[in-house]
Amino acid sequence: MRVLVTGGAGFLGSHLCDRLIAEGHDVLCVDNYYTGTKENLSGLLAEPRFELMRHDVTFPLYVEVDRIYNLACPASPIHYQRDPVQTTKTSVHGAINMLGLAKRVGARILQASTSEVYGDPEVHPQVEEYWGKVNPIGIRSCYDEGKRAAETLFFDYWRQHGLEIKVMRIFNTYGPRMHPDDGRVVSNFIVQALRGEPITIYGDGHQTRSFCYVDDLIDGMARLMESRADFTGPVNIGNPTENTMLELAESVLRLAGGTSKIEFRPLPSDDPRQRRPDITLAKGELAWEPKVALEDGLRETIDYFRWKLAQ
Ligand code: NAD
Ligand code: UDP
Repeated sequence: MRVLVTGGAGFLGSHLCDRLIAEGHDVLCVDNYYTGTKENLSGLLAEPRFELMRHDVTFPLYVEVDRIYNLACPASPIHYQRDPVQTTKTSVHGAINMLGLAKRVGARILQASTSEVYGDPEVHPQVEEYWGKVNPIGIRSCYDEGKRAAETLFFDYWRQHGLEIKVMRIFNTYGPRMHPDDGRVVSNFIVQALRGEPITIYGDGHQTRSFCYVDDLIDGMARLMESRADFTGPVNIGNPTENTMLELAESVLRLAGGTSKIEFRPLPSDDPRQRRPDITLAKGELAWEPKVALEDGLRETIDYFRWKLAQ
């Protein structure tokens, strides 16, 4: 198939491109390199079935494809808060442009949505039926509300135009090719441990997240895209094992070694207190569940950053 991946030069997008090429598809990756890099795709650049295009999804795109994975959007809080207006535009205009393209060429389209649509959740673990508790005017809103508006657009294109849509709510994912300065907690802690710098815990460290290794996540994404035509989601994809940030810091310190001390910093506003996916739907519909334990995934990621920091 001819597959379009927007945001394909980023962390998740580059792993997805690897998988799609390995499966024998023709892959067109579009990216404006806001947070992604060509280096993430260095293994694919010589591949004849792979094409890379510099393009901003807030502008229309005219190409012929059978599948669209819409991943374009900065995902880390420090990146999406750097230019919040652009973040909302990328989510909303990007979704409109990619849905318009899907409608014109009759392509099936998958949206990389997020657990952030649940905001600071009162329902725990989060089920897809929960509508969320999101601040519409805070510093995370450009991302959270942008992604929520994108979900609305997907479901309206489905109801109004009969598009084949797939909405995937991605929970915190980590692994090789995360940007070392990306600011997300797993990359921050690992880079700090390897550099012998203090491990920065925001708040008291009792807030929780559930971390999914990238290979598991990409497997779930590919399964969702090829699921039965009338299955739209939204579907949670993430690892249901929940950890506090203190536990994560201890695991990273133990596995990476070094002498870093833990340092507490102020908690950013609207930081969700808890997050864990209920993955019953993904198990039933996609026969999917994560396989990689946090320790194993952290070891792989630490090895990657050891190599990266030595470059
Ligand atoms: P990332 O920042 O590494 O990748 C995003 C990619 O999108 C980058 O290559 C960036 O250059 C590109 N991009 C940004 N704005 C663009 C624009 N206007 N036009 C074209 N390209 C643009 O982030 P990631 O972790 O790979 O996330 C990928 C997707 O998955 C995002 O949509 C994100 O919201 C979603 N997601 C990720 C996580 C996670 O834990 N990694 C969790 C929830 C949702
Ligand atoms: N966090 C932290 N130290 C850091 C970076 C993040 O304690 O150096 C915390 C952050 O406040 C949040 C959690 O780790 O509670 C996850 O943050 P991340 O930015 O990775 O993802 P998100 O908040 O979007 O889930």
